[in-house]
Amino acid sequence: MPALHVNDELLDQYALGTLPEERVAGVEEHLLVCEACQSRLDASDEFAMLFRAASVQPDARPQRSWRAFWNHRAANWTVASAAMLAILLLVAGPFREPQMAPATVLMQSLRGPDAPAQVAAGRPALLVFDLVPSPGVNEYEARIVNPVGVEILAAKVSSKDGRLAVLVERLPPGSYWVRVFRSDNREPIAEYGLRAK
Ligand SMILES: [Zn+2]
Repeated sequence: MPALHVNDELLDQYALGTLPEERVAGVEEHLLVCEACQSRLDASDEFAMLFRAASVQPDARPQRSWRAFWNHRAANWTVASAAMLAILLLVAGPFREPQMAPATVLMQSLRGPDAPAQVAAGRPALLVFDLVPSPGVNEYEARIVNPVGVEILAAKVSSKDGRLAVLVERLPPGSYWVRVFRSDNREPIAEYGLRAK
């Protein structure tokens, strides 16, 4: 386990969503690999939920708990609110900046979470996977989740030069998992670490 854990103050800020943006990537990278801090985030998240409940209107719906995503990461990423977030990011994206040519990034499944592929945060990237389409299977989907399991993006995977690829628009800085699915299978066929910085 990494020696330097995330301190309480940063963890609370992360849970509350008030952590300065330049600190987020570091915290998320640590959370990816440290179960101790994941558990502490659970506790911190409960604090954040109480804090929110106390500080917003009584009829406001509490925000979705990240804890559920930690515990059921593999099963729960199709939750509607996460999909809404993905749609908002995709819809909001093109209006902020003029179109840029995407950088091509080769995604290799042998690279572990310690050596993720890197993209420039906020810029489009074409992720090319080290996967060859199976004969007779035309539909693949890629889903990008953040370290707390919230789905950031879901997109149809296309074939480029005999390889599977997906265009990603403007990921915020941070660490992510990219999972590739066959449309006829709910289990990912491959998973990759990705860092945007
Ligand atoms: Zn830790």
